[in-house]
Amino acid sequence: MIKIEYPTDKDFHTDFFIAIRSKKDTSEIDDIFKRYNLKINNDDLTFEKLVTLTFEEIIELSKIIGKKNEDKFNETEITIFNKWINYKNKREKINQFLIDTKEVVLNTCFYCNMDHIYSFIDENDETRNHFTLDHILPKGEYKIFSICLYNLIPSCSPCNSKFKHNKEFTINDNLNTVIATSTNYSFNKDFKFKVYYNQEVEKFKDINDLKIQSNYDKTNINIKEYLRIFRIKERYDFHENKGLDIVEKRINYSDSFIEEMSKLTGRSKEDFYRDLFGKELFDKEYNTDPFIKFKRDIANNIGIKGVLS
Ligand SMILES: [Zn+2]
Repeated sequence: MIKIEYPTDKDFHTDFFIAIRSKKDTSEIDDIFKRYNLKINNDDLTFEKLVTLTFEEIIELSKIIGKKNEDKFNETEITIFNKWINYKNKREKINQFLIDTKEVVLNTCFYCNMDHIYSFIDENDETRNHFTLDHILPKGEYKIFSICLYNLIPSCSPCNSKFKHNKEFTINDNLNTVIATSTNYSFNKDFKFKVYYNQEVEKFKDINDLKIQSNYDKTNINIKEYLRIFRIKERYDFHENKGLDIVEKRINYSDSFIEEMSKLTGRSKEDFYRDLFGKELFDKEYNTDPFIKFKRDIANNIGIKGVLS
């Protein structure tokens, strides 16, 4: 539901590579890639390149190498492969990297935007993380991508274990538009929550007649699948009051009323909007708050001025 804003500079990628490599000299694993002629953009694949492949490059390479590609390796190669590409052993390093990277805001599940994800330091000074990493291409079938940064989505445990579990996304040309690590992510724009009403909302008297709905191109199979996998509709239905609260305030406080209050008190209209509808609707710093997309979509839908999209 929200894009992961990873830094795009080379240092960020180098830092990730250094954080998860098994040792400085990567030649033993790079040689295996070379032996099997694994290339990306016509260059030989290396461990350094592998772990920071873009999501689109991961998909491109997955088509060439297919599922369970490590099955063709000989015994020595498998031992080396398992040393370097071992999600279980490297998971904590990846988690720690994400926690330590100041530019990456871990605040809410990137799949559902409902549950908080965070880390904390416990009484023994150890970092504990309250999030899981979901593999977009499953680690059982594409072990080679199991430690690729852009194949991992920091997510809440219900999204990862309960709802997605072993379900797979359909791989097609538009999959990247619903994948939060892709630069072509457009889910936030392509899918909008809205309230259903058949007259001007300010004239609407009975809040119980409003229903939360969504707006998207119903032929978009990637969005449909996403909604189905994560049970977005059912889960948000349960929280519809968070959206309807905003509508109720809109009914009670019209633009003209706010203007009058502003004149009477000398406080700016913007201050009134922020106080009434919530500052998180208007300020970038709340971009990763739980339910932020839901609230902003509804607020924009009913025409509250200045709300971020
Ligand atoms: Zn979630």
